[in-house]
Amino acid sequence: MKEIDLRSDTVTRPTSGMLKAIMSAEVGDDVYKEDPTVNALEEKLAKMFGMDEALFFPTGSMANQAAIKLHTQPGEQLICDKWAHVFNYEGGGVSFNSGVSCKLVDGDRGMITAAQVEENINPPDFYHSPLTTLVCLENTTNKGGGACYDLEEIKKVRNVCNTNNLGLHLDGARLFNALVAKNEDPKDYGKLFDTISVCLSKGLGTPMGSVLIGEKKLMKNAIRIRKVLGGGMRQIGFMAAAGIYALDNQFDRLAEDHKRAKEIAETLASATYVDKVEPVETNIAIFYLKNASNEAAFMKKLQKENIRISNMGQGKLRIVTHLDYSEEMHQKFLKLLKEIKL
Ligand SMILES: *Cc1c(COP(=O)(O)O)cnc(C)c1O
Repeated sequence: MKEIDLRSDTVTRPTSGMLKAIMSAEVGDDVYKEDPTVNALEEKLAKMFGMDEALFFPTGSMANQAAIKLHTQPGEQLICDKWAHVFNYEGGGVSFNSGVSCKLVDGDRGMITAAQVEENINPPDFYHSPLTTLVCLENTTNKGGGACYDLEEIKKVRNVCNTNNLGLHLDGARLFNALVAKNEDPKDYGKLFDTISVCLSKGLGTPMGSVLIGEKKLMKNAIRIRKVLGGGMRQIGFMAAAGIYALDNQFDRLAEDHKRAKEIAETLASATYVDKVEPVETNIAIFYLKNASNEAAFMKKLQKENIRISNMGQGKLRIVTHLDYSEEMHQKFLKLLKEIKL
């Protein structure tokens, strides 16, 4: 059997339907905004979220970094969870690109509350501290194991932002997973956030591409910032076509990834060698071995069967399900997890 790669939902190859959509895309020069397929994708996502505008980016990191730049001035501070992707996994871009610092909040599985946001706002007239101007939430959380926010809590965060004149950005790299898992309406997110980034290259399975969606008054500068970051692309409608195809054909199937991740978590929870499994809400399962010193042996047993998972350090192991993880692979993996002895 082929390799079973459960390190991330970014390892997928385009499906044959997606390849056909790519090959038959109508394209133009997107730097002139003349690529009809990119324009169609941007319009589709703006409409889906009930927001004014959308802009295609090569990566999710660039879309987040552009959003942070749109919301802030150098010297200011944003509030995010200590595990946030924008702080931990974007190469220090917050300080490099925007000259902004992060106030890190000790949240729950990557999620922060409105009360925590409020506590962490620097008093605006206390000129010794950086001025707080932005809150960044992540949904689903990556390092938090695919956890989903409660929309009611986000509404409270929005109120705190309104009262304190703060922008609110959503790193929605895996927002589509949350929408499917909680059967939510994207328009509810559009109402609450000023800007939202979504990735097409995670669960939706395109080779590349993210989209930043937002209100007109912020987004009017987004194309300039994308240019500064080097993200203007030419006949990129080929990749936008993959995005449109994924939204139309590979969206609902995210539920299958969630079901399989839950089944993996259940199997792990009853395995003798597992200490703890984090709650699984979407397509990510995080677990800890009873004896951290068994980690290498465990990984080796998986490797022998051509199975790859992520080691996140400190005894934390991660499995991510996706569209190239078939039912046949799933059954083989579950069987192996039951048989392993450490
Ligand atoms: C993947 C991801 C991103 C964007 O990553 P890129 O590799 O730059 O596309 C942003 N935020 C979160 C939470 C992610 O998981």
